[in-house]
Amino acid sequence: MSAIQMVDLKTQYHKIKADVDKAVLDVLDSTAFINGKPVGEFSTALASYLNVEHVIPCANGTDALQIAMMALGLQPGDEVITPSFTYVATTEVVALLRLTPVFVDVEPDTFCMDAAKIEAAITPRTKAIVPVHLYGHAVNMEPILALAEKHGLYVIEDTAQALGGSYSFANGQQKKVGTMGHVGCTSFFPSKNLGCYGDGGAMFTNDAVLADRLRMIANHGQKVRYYHDMVGCNSRLDTVQAAILNIKLPLLDGYNAARRQAAQRYNELFAHHPKITTPFEAAYSHHVFHQYTLKLENANRDELVQHLAAKGIPSMIYYPVPVHRQRMFADFGGADFELPVTDWLTERVISLPMHSELTEAQQQLIAAAVLEFLQ
Ligand SMILES: *Cc1c(COP(=O)(O)O)cnc(C)c1O
Repeated sequence: MSAIQMVDLKTQYHKIKADVDKAVLDVLDSTAFINGKPVGEFSTALASYLNVEHVIPCANGTDALQIAMMALGLQPGDEVITPSFTYVATTEVVALLRLTPVFVDVEPDTFCMDAAKIEAAITPRTKAIVPVHLYGHAVNMEPILALAEKHGLYVIEDTAQALGGSYSFANGQQKKVGTMGHVGCTSFFPSKNLGCYGDGGAMFTNDAVLADRLRMIANHGQKVRYYHDMVGCNSRLDTVQAAILNIKLPLLDGYNAARRQAAQRYNELFAHHPKITTPFEAAYSHHVFHQYTLKLENANRDELVQHLAAKGIPSMIYYPVPVHRQRMFADFGGADFELPVTDWLTERVISLPMHSELTEAQQQLIAAAVLEFLQ
């Protein structure tokens, strides 16, 4: 059995090596390293996959969030509602742009932003809501979209952990995550569900005017070369990365299906254990299991991590400190927010190896080690 990893990029690469190597060599041969043909091809293919009008590629997921907030015209002091139970990038860009993060709590079962807690956080300064589809589970978007409409707020979806996942509206309509708000942002960091072999990201929107602004800001505020209409940045998806993504995008649904199957196997192995709560999947969410995250009760999590490590089994705590308690947000009054569910989850979550190449034998070994420790 191959060594167990949180994410097994090597096995996945070896299955598509011939195609990837050829695509990369073709880019090298073309020397069109920046904005080569594969970049446009990938944007078109991703737009069609997501059923969205415009895809604007950029350098990484953090840039995608930043450019989205810039393109929507958010100004210093504007308040942005975000979860604290997320990767720091979501909120870091809020602070970077001198916007004010307003943290709301998450739901204990989905780990995602609690729509019921948003309205109390809205003030006359609120301009945007940033739902994060965490661990691959869709945020309950319908009530959030209704609130945004009612209060005239922008919705920026952070889809970095859930590309390919979808959300079902009460009327049965299904949409891919990242395509319901004003802008969707994603990352192609290697370990994401659709990962490239370096950094990459993209923004999606159905608004042509906004798409234009996103594209301009990602390109030094210019539409016509050397005529800079607004302050932007330099954020591009490399041609090599786009060429790799062109090979991997058609495989994304298969990768996500493999993750779902692995999650199902874990669920069966951990079923009915008094100390373990397996991940929840709301009826509205098609979960793509970027992470497989358990909640532990009456267990010493640090010792479990060490017990697993001693057997060569990696595990991770996503994330050991919630964003609002990071020193980075001390000046923003981060720790003044009361987020009991976020704090409660932070103490209890543990993520096990999860990727498209995980085998049943590996999972049995992992589960046996977890169960042996928890008794
Ligand atoms: C990975 C991630 C990002 C940032 O993506 P990068 O490409 O690493 O900049 C943003 N938000 C969430 C929730 C993420 O998981």
